[in-house]
Amino acid sequence: MGAAGSKLEKALGDQFPEGERFFGLENFGNTCYCNSVLQALYFCVPFREQLLEYYANNKKQADIEENLLTCLADLFSQISSQKKKTGVIAPKRFVQRVKKENELFRSYMHQDAHEFLIFLLNELVDILEKETNTANGSLEPPPPLENVANGRLHPQPNGTHRKPLITWVHKNFQGILTNETRCLRCETITAREETFFDLSLDIEQNSSITSCLKNFSSTETLNAEDKFFCDKCCSLQEAQKRMKIKRPPSILVIHLKRFKYIEQLGRNKKLSYRVVFPMELKLNTVDGPETEYSLFAVVVHVGSGTNHGHYVSLVKSHNHWLFFDDENVEMIDESSVQTFFGSAQEFTSNTDHGYILFYESIGARS
Ligand SMILES: [Zn+2]
Repeated sequence: MGAAGSKLEKALGDQFPEGERFFGLENFGNTCYCNSVLQALYFCVPFREQLLEYYANNKKQADIEENLLTCLADLFSQISSQKKKTGVIAPKRFVQRVKKENELFRSYMHQDAHEFLIFLLNELVDILEKETNTANGSLEPPPPLENVANGRLHPQPNGTHRKPLITWVHKNFQGILTNETRCLRCETITAREETFFDLSLDIEQNSSITSCLKNFSSTETLNAEDKFFCDKCCSLQEAQKRMKIKRPPSILVIHLKRFKYIEQLGRNKKLSYRVVFPMELKLNTVDGPETEYSLFAVVVHVGSGTNHGHYVSLVKSHNHWLFFDDENVEMIDESSVQTFFGSAQEFTSNTDHGYILFYESIGARS
């Protein structure tokens, strides 16, 4: 490690607790989409702790087959048990496993970090569910979904009554939305619940996360080609629809839709819009108090195009901000986080834009 590394090591020793590690991740050819998400997840402390606990409980089983979950747990455990505070680790087995599991990530092309994050969370859940089903018997029953006060709960689309298992991945990331549709003819409100691991928000120039969230929950009229089938009227009707947060997640992941298909261009375009994301965010829920969140990680897309570019991440650890760019780790001032909001002008030399935001509910874990 060079002089910069030892300088960082000293700073880290002075300002961070003994056990915290800050390791860069080697890039195996356009694997920055993976590295940037891994850093955000590593610094999602409740997730990291539960993953390491899972690893400690399961590694004794010699017959456990390698999967994405064991590879991730192995990588996090490798980082957290390093003697030095900083350095570089090669997440080789994990990346190989990702490529093995999903052909989308097999090429050396530029990949979408958001797609990767959602793929990873779903895979982890699948693995945990399979393990529980195999182990059968010892699982705690999941809490039932309550009925919606102002409407009725639609039956599950597949018609089964199997209650979904709530894993520790769900406990960290899963929230519940209520999708409410009011028929404009008979006024019947149909409410359907949807679970989510992240909120994908449409963005506008010179806006903020708060205004994007407001738009996300605003009322939308379904008419013309887009009418709603009302069960009571037994026909297609005009309706009003809105999405509301019913149960806020412990970790709120917000994906900014910066890659948008532009019909006139016949292709995707990156929107470099300036979208302010605050350090502290309040989220309104259907009934109940606002939930307050604190920003702890940002995955940043660097570049002006959609099919190439680079990903880096900003991470908050023990009240300090760090910048992770594959192998490189640097400390940065909190004030520089705002340089990743985006650009108020269309053509600009600044191409580093916040793409996935990670907020942690304040006081949700005591
Ligand atoms: Zn109706």
